[in-house]
Amino acid sequence: MASNADPTHDPAHATPVGERTRITLLRGTDTIGGNLILVDYGRDRIVFDFGCVYDPASGSTPQDLPGLVASGVVPYLPGVFDRDVPVPGHAWRDEDRDHVAVFVSHAHLDHSAMINLIDPAVPLYMMEDTRRLVRAMNAAGGFCLPAGARHDGWDHTRPIIGVPAGGQVTVGSIRVMLMPVDHDAYGAAGFRIDTPDAAIAYTGDLRFHGWHGGDSMAFLAANRGVDALIMEGVSISFREPGEPAVEPETSEADVLRELVGLVEANPGRQITFDYYPTDVERVRHLIAFSPRRIVLTSRSASVLAAVTGEQAYYYRLPGERTVDTLDPGMEVDIERLIADHHDYCWQLDARAQDRVFDRLASGGLHLHTGALPLGDFDPAYEPFMQRFADHGIQPYDVNCSGHAYVEQAVGIIDMVRPRTLIPVHGERPGRYHNPYGSTVIPRPGMIVEP
Ligand SMILES: [Zn+2]
Ligand SMILES: [Zn+2]
Repeated sequence: MASNADPTHDPAHATPVGERTRITLLRGTDTIGGNLILVDYGRDRIVFDFGCVYDPASGSTPQDLPGLVASGVVPYLPGVFDRDVPVPGHAWRDEDRDHVAVFVSHAHLDHSAMINLIDPAVPLYMMEDTRRLVRAMNAAGGFCLPAGARHDGWDHTRPIIGVPAGGQVTVGSIRVMLMPVDHDAYGAAGFRIDTPDAAIAYTGDLRFHGWHGGDSMAFLAANRGVDALIMEGVSISFREPGEPAVEPETSEADVLRELVGLVEANPGRQITFDYYPTDVERVRHLIAFSPRRIVLTSRSASVLAAVTGEQAYYYRLPGERTVDTLDPGMEVDIERLIADHHDYCWQLDARAQDRVFDRLASGGLHLHTGALPLGDFDPAYEPFMQRFADHGIQPYDVNCSGHAYVEQAVGIIDMVRPRTLIPVHGERPGRYHNPYGSTVIPRPGMIVEP
């Protein structure tokens, strides 16, 4: 395609539908998460991702579609949102599209929370690992937002079509390849999108310092020279390239080493931990390398089993039902864990904290490794850590970023060399510069013709 000095348009002056590829940036333009992007060609449209921006400091997010639209979290998308959920002031219409499909890159809520609000006639695609993870996380509801209308055959999660890693989906004239990338949600993907006149890469969320950094490299290598690179910008929201890092920029291997070191260095003390259950690789590695036996909640163990087929040791809280996907021979009695100081490192999630916190031994350790609350930006963080300290338990926050550290993130541009760079999923998109072409500083509703 011919070079285009200014690839951006206001919607009012955009090219008529059908003449060429259009990227519409609806949300996630200056926020961390909540990406909502359309790619249109002719009468075909794809939409990605489908979550809500996560900001624990801003109070509660509406849980239903009318509330989300009224509060401006999302614009109403006729032909995409569920036609059976009325939204005041908006009419559902099919927008005369031949093909519409939604794609989700990974199982974090800022990318996947709204999937049950998609119209039943619109197919939803994810990489197969992400499909299994989302379904397992939402097995009893409470992870994704609930559907706003009854649909036959839905359980808590609407139908999802799983795509193998590297697999392609054709949506009319648009082709989407889902490629694995390294992130702290298991099964995360980046997308390669080909229309008749443009090649577009969408990073989703990615990094290089996890257990699958090579996947991120392979994704970028496969997308060298694309017309448009839609790229996340979490790390650059907090630090300019070259500025000193405020916190150490550690890797998953560092996290594992530190966790194992803490378990080794504290014989004779009770040790509990908590993690975010979509971070399957972190707990898998902890299970493999911990000198004490790792025991998960039955919920986390069932997520692990659903996604990987692997059984882990687990416990149930008093009154909790058995889970038929778990091996009864690997259950550990909760009373045995509460009394233990030597043999176990067991998961104390929010529900377990509610139920057994007062029975924990003082003098123990709690390893907080990626679970909520995530950090100082969450008003719940300080009281959470203090509660352990007040009980005589030493809390350790051991974590690393799910996003490429800033110098590596900038290096992505050199690897891909896009004609147009579109930074999203960050608060400071203007810090990115594309020496190989133009850089779009997005605003909600902006249309880019790559
Ligand atoms: Zn994200
Ligand atoms: Zn993420």
